[in-house]
Amino acid sequence: MSKDIIETNETTEDENEYEKYCYLCRRPESMVGKLIHLPNDIYICPDCMQNTFDTFSNSSNMQFMDLSGFDMSQFNLKGAQDIPKSQKVKKKKKEEKKQEPELDLKTIPAPHIMKAQLDEYVIGQDYAKKVISVAVYNHYKRVLTNTMDDIEIEKSNMLMIGPTGSGKTYLVKTIARLLNVPLAITDATTLTEAGYIGDDVESVLSKLLAAADNDVEKAERGIVFIDEIDKIAKKRNTNSRDVSGESVQQGLLKILEGSEVEVPVGAGSKNAMVPLTTINTKNILFICGGAFPDIEDIIKARLNKQASIGFKADLKDKYDKDENLLKQVTIEDLREFGMIPEFLGRLPVIYTLDALDKDKMVQILKEPKNAILKQYQKLLSLDEVDLRFDDSAYEAIAEKAMEKKTGARALRAIIEEFMLDIMYQIPRDDSIGRVTITGDYIRGTGAPLIDMRGVLALEE
Ligand code: ADP
Repeated sequence: MSKDIIETNETTEDENEYEKYCYLCRRPESMVGKLIHLPNDIYICPDCMQNTFDTFSNSSNMQFMDLSGFDMSQFNLKGAQDIPKSQKVKKKKKEEKKQEPELDLKTIPAPHIMKAQLDEYVIGQDYAKKVISVAVYNHYKRVLTNTMDDIEIEKSNMLMIGPTGSGKTYLVKTIARLLNVPLAITDATTLTEAGYIGDDVESVLSKLLAAADNDVEKAERGIVFIDEIDKIAKKRNTNSRDVSGESVQQGLLKILEGSEVEVPVGAGSKNAMVPLTTINTKNILFICGGAFPDIEDIIKARLNKQASIGFKADLKDKYDKDENLLKQVTIEDLREFGMIPEFLGRLPVIYTLDALDKDKMVQILKEPKNAILKQYQKLLSLDEVDLRFDDSAYEAIAEKAMEKKTGARALRAIIEEFMLDIMYQIPRDDSIGRVTITGDYIRGTGAPLIDMRGVLALEE
């Protein structure tokens, strides 16, 4: 008797190790999602179930079919047993998720530590790193103590202004990873006023919810980065309704400030088929970023106007070549650009990032912990090839990137272009021990230096 029980247990355990299949489409559970269990051990996937319902409801012949006397047991359907074991696939083992520590008051790093951690990844931008560290620290202190309600510390939502490819997104990504909080990155250009084609403003929260594995509590402590915020500036001289500009700013007001928002789960806009949940945005940190092209002209015009009044009268072109002009940006300039005052009022921390110069580009190639070139070196070292770059190579890559005027973003494209050949050719030849990339190779006027294993061994 007891042997029987043991045997049955064994078989069920054994069964559990194998995939269940949909009775109709024969796809396994791991592919189609949870199967629906019907009598006779028949499993059907949600898609086939839906298709069956659709067929029933679409087919006019079926409309009057009376299923009340229908007896399933008359049919000899074989369910689980109809696939021989030799054709079943074992389930993949689930990877155990590492439990990462939750953010709490004791573990939240002080601003100087946070900045030091950022330094390992983000080159330059010292001012921005300092501001973001302090603002994020204050924000999470406010969130974690939850006692600030009586004193009402203002939320530290931020506005980052900096040229494209200067590290705005990268900075936010790095800080969210260091703090282990969910992060959603969205593009303001995809947003439109509710009811128009495009995503509703609530979609930014849907993304955050998805980033937090649909855990509302976790999402409510997350960070939302809205890129290209300058693209939703008020359109000037327009007679039509500004559904992707001012209206989006208006729509974002409520979310930025902190309120209960109904959010569609897993979709960009609300409709009858999408489930909704409520998210409180009080503790969500919003960071907006944009390049604000031509805002320098507005700043210059303002400064010139000031300078031409009274004793301070100055040369008119004094600011034309000022590289730090962007740093002098004020709320008035942003208003002039087309951001509405209420919107700016909800972003109390405003700061700028510098354009990256050639030296900074070289540093980006060499220094960050996860620098792209280091990644290639690591890859080739698995083939026991020593990949090196001489100084002229760094310079040449940086120069090429400067020409593209897309900041550090250009670096990856340039590197991938020339590394393709290296990664293709080198593993072909076992005798190669070292490859040195030179400036000439990057500029297309020479070849990389190759050292053979035998020669290297002799050198040693
Ligand atoms: P944007 O300012 O347009 O948001 P990104 O942050 O997306 O620019 O930068 C693009 C890429 O360039 C990043 O993924 C990162 O690898 C690199 N990068 C940009 N700025 C820096 C920097 N200051 N330090 C290190 N890497 C950088």
